[in-house]
Order: sequence, then structure tokens, then C-alpha cells
Amino acid sequence: MSVTPVISFSTSNKGKSILICEGFIYQLNRTRKKAKYWRCKDRTCSAYIHTDQNNQYIGKSGDHGSHLPIPESIEVTVFKAKVKERIARETVAIRKIYDNELASAALSEAALALISLPSEASKYSYLSISPMFVLFIL
Ligand SMILES: [Zn+2]
Repeated sequence: MSVTPVISFSTSNKGKSILICEGFIYQLNRTRKKAKYWRCKDRTCSAYIHTDQNNQYIGKSGDHGSHLPIPESIEVTVFKAKVKERIARETVAIRKIYDNELASAALSEAALALISLPSEASKYSYLSISPMFVLFIL
């Protein structure tokens, strides 16, 4: 007997649906009449999760043999998706949405470190606004 894992859904940077399960990100790979096949985001990995059309967990195949889960980068992905969605929907200033979401997200230290990676920040240094939230607009 196996326990059904907890799955959740979000949107990737590119606006595609992603499935999140146990610290791994999956991208929608194929859709069939009775099932959707979600493939691990790591291209070298062949782990899949199958759901039905209503995104209910059906089963999985393969495993993540060669890599580890990345919960902090998932936190960041989910956070970014939330902010983006609000920016699209609301007329509130972007900065305000960002600060507001950041306050309520309770991100782990690892996730916060990831958001403010120096390498990411330097890409946007020519801009006069905070690089941290420029990341969310792109
Ligand atoms: Zn994998």
C-alpha cells in the first residue's frame, strides 16, 4: 500500500503549468484523454507523475536517482507566480504587492537567499528599481 503524495500546482516563469511534489518540480509533458503526464523539470531525469484531467494524483513512474529535491527553489517559484498573478489582476503598485506577498509568504532562509542571489541582482543593476522585484516582472 502506498501513501498518496501531496501535490500542488503553480505557474513557471514562462507561464506554463507546473506540478510540485515532495520538493520536485514537474512540467506538463503530455495530455491524454484520461491522464496528464508531468515530467520532472530536470531534463536528465525520467521521473513522471500522472494525474487525471482534474489534477488528481493517479500515480508515478521512474525516480529521481541522479538529483536531489530543491524545496527552496520551489518556494521561490511559487512566490514569483503569486506575485505575477496579482500584478496581472490588481491595480496596486507592483512594489506593494511584492512587499505584501513577501511578508506573508514566510519564505525559508534558503529561499530568501535564492531570491537575492548576487548573480541575479547584477543582471539588473542598470535599473534604478530594486533588482529583487524586477525578477518578478520578467
Ligand atoms: Zn527528477
